[in-house]
Amino acid sequence: MLPFQRVAIIGMGLIGSSLARAIAARMPTVHLTVSDRSPEVCARVRELQLAEDVTDNAATAVIDAELVILAVPVGAIAAVAAEIAGDMATGSVISDVGSVKESVLKALTETMPDHVAIVPGHPVAGTERSGPDAGFATLFEGRWCILTPADPASPAAQQVAAFWERLGARVEMMDAAHHDRVLAVTSHLPHLIAYSIVGTASDLETITRSEVIKYSAGGFRDFTRIAASDPVMWRDVFLNNREAVLELLGRFTEDLVALQRAIRWGDGETLEALFTRTRAIRRSIIDEGQDTANEDFGRSHGGRPHGTGDDS
Ligand code: NAP
Repeated sequence: MLPFQRVAIIGMGLIGSSLARAIAARMPTVHLTVSDRSPEVCARVRELQLAEDVTDNAATAVIDAELVILAVPVGAIAAVAAEIAGDMATGSVISDVGSVKESVLKALTETMPDHVAIVPGHPVAGTERSGPDAGFATLFEGRWCILTPADPASPAAQQVAAFWERLGARVEMMDAAHHDRVLAVTSHLPHLIAYSIVGTASDLETITRSEVIKYSAGGFRDFTRIAASDPVMWRDVFLNNREAVLELLGRFTEDLVALQRAIRWGDGETLEALFTRTRAIRRSIIDEGQDTANEDFGRSHGGRPHGTGDDS
């Protein structure tokens, strides 16, 4: 039996449109209504035939939906939730795909009426592309989807878990604050470093821009892919996961200074010991099957890049 018969998705970007495609592929009898604030995007979604019903009015989209998934930047979730709260059906479930969870849980708890169950979620899968053309049906296959409901044993949480499993994802329940600390390490800090290093390279005066691009295969290229990720989405991630990111950044800065010292004093042993340890981590990621199409290092599909234009 399907966990939900009527689903609404708000936001038809990379993740929203991937969800729509995955639902059509794996649960074709589900009635899907989608919404995007942009009439142009709605027109494109109709052209792509991603859903039965398409509207630029989020409140209209959620009427009658058993499950509503917000697929908008984390900073927009409170406003979109407030817009639809009055039209959520009794007994329905609200969820999302935002990359930060504590602030989302708080926003949904403050805005949703009591007759709506709240099950925040985060599929740890994506690419650096944006928009409805960027999505693809297999995005979530074999990837983790982390759910952060207040009560993991509730029927709504179990139903949302079953929904993601039907899409091919592996589901884990976690406390929202713990999610934010884990993702600060695995996703948020790497993005911050990528944004920073690409910025540093573009500011250098003694090395030309064309040299940076020409010799990018020496490691820089992988950073540019991450640094091409959507600026609005990532601005919201850092503003909403402030504490965890700042704490980790402090640790990272200390470790970087230790490496600086090792290089300065010719301490090859320290460098080699660290590089050997990190190589083993890479090996475990490959063994786990998490080396492609994750949030940080996605496969390239269509869609509009959100980078500066130089990097993507
Ligand atoms: P995206 O492709 O840029 O799409 C963003 C969507 O949100 C678009 O539909 C956009 O509308 C809409 N939107 C933006 N600002 C809005 C606002 N103020 N009010 C209402 N709608 C707004 O981004 P995405 O990658 O799908 O990201 C969506 C969510 O998924 C984010 O919360 C992100 O943290 C999370 N996520 C992303 C990834 C990833 O790798 N990209 C992975 C996991 C989770 P328009 O069409 O008008 O632009």
